[in-house]
Amino acid sequence: MVQLGEMPDKDGYFGEYGGQILPPELVEIMNGINDAYDEVRQTEAFKTELADLFAHYVGRPSPIFFAKRLTEKVGGAQIYLKREDLNHTGAHKINHCLGEALLAKHMGKKKVLAETGAGQHGVALATACALVDIECEIHMGQVDIEKEAPNVTKMKILGCNLVPVTRGTATLKDAVDSAFEEYLKDPVNTLYAIGSVVGPHPFPRMVRDFQSVVGKEAREQIQQMAGKLPDVVTACVGGGSNAIGMFTAFLDDEDVEIVGVEPAGKGLDTPDNAATMTLGSKGAIHGFKCYNLQDDDGEPLPVYSIASGLDYPGVGPQHCYLKDMGRVRYESADDKECLDAFMTLSRVEGIIPALESAHAVAFAMKEAANMSSDKVILVNLSGRGDKDADFVANKLGL
Ligand SMILES: *Cc1c(COP(=O)(O)O)cnc(C)c1O
Repeated sequence: MVQLGEMPDKDGYFGEYGGQILPPELVEIMNGINDAYDEVRQTEAFKTELADLFAHYVGRPSPIFFAKRLTEKVGGAQIYLKREDLNHTGAHKINHCLGEALLAKHMGKKKVLAETGAGQHGVALATACALVDIECEIHMGQVDIEKEAPNVTKMKILGCNLVPVTRGTATLKDAVDSAFEEYLKDPVNTLYAIGSVVGPHPFPRMVRDFQSVVGKEAREQIQQMAGKLPDVVTACVGGGSNAIGMFTAFLDDEDVEIVGVEPAGKGLDTPDNAATMTLGSKGAIHGFKCYNLQDDDGEPLPVYSIASGLDYPGVGPQHCYLKDMGRVRYESADDKECLDAFMTLSRVEGIIPALESAHAVAFAMKEAANMSSDKVILVNLSGRGDKDADFVANKLGL
């Protein structure tokens, strides 16, 4: 039985994964954040403020929808969708960004700092910072800035300080380095807001806690709608925040099968994928230990997915632990299956999913077809596909 209350341990380990693989002065800073979080999260002021924002700003609880036509088309288990795509800003990321911005404010920080790749984390964080009234600085590679114009515009409108990064390949990795250097200049007055359940302790724990509202709501909602717990719960896994947010509520339900879905990209037998759990080996990345895709020298490999939110060479430490203990199964869906699920869900339900979320839908469609019609699959639909619509239309020649 998973004793969630005891995870991670006091050093931030989930079994052998996680921790703080950092120089001593940074360990001290991270422990300071952990202590402050422990203190703040128990205060009524913080709890009430976050709960209020979830209800009246994000629009929580997000509904659960029985995808009847998709179920009929696939022929098998009933498919239900947890609609995180209906949140303000269109995805689950707002849940932890609000938590982080609010924490920074309660800790008396002057600034929240982060990097962004495709700009999804940047927009969610800039939104939260505008609302909470705290300065926001986002580092983004110049190449990504040119590719992701709509998100760049949004971040500017939301009032964040967008710092273009031109060094190296001018992409995500360089943005991480640049943001981290900036952070080290003044860690006392700044909070580095990590965008998933990755990075050094306490981030895998904190971000999980902020996202766990997803599974808490879903577990109640599905019992009301379907009259029982789901037989299978599934979500896509990049760093793993939407997945762990959903899974946490079901870990102790032994009869509920839990499946994380990774991006197989152009195929597991090609270098163009980001199936960290399926193909990775144990190692350190960005201050923590996890499965990762790395070369012989332990350097992160370039990874790829059609969904830019999923192409990270590491993965949250709790997922690694859950895989090893056999509680969660990790499968993958490739670009083609993802596009097929994207179009199918759009055409039979009128819901355009994010390409990230479409990976989970693709798995659910495959799995449901092999299950009887009294079974229930619950899919975390982590975000909406507005950001992907033009790309997909071009790709498919629509
Ligand atoms: C960022 C993103 C993801 C991937 O991040 P996780 O931490 O793995 O959840 C998934 N879906 C959407 C819509 C995203 O924006």
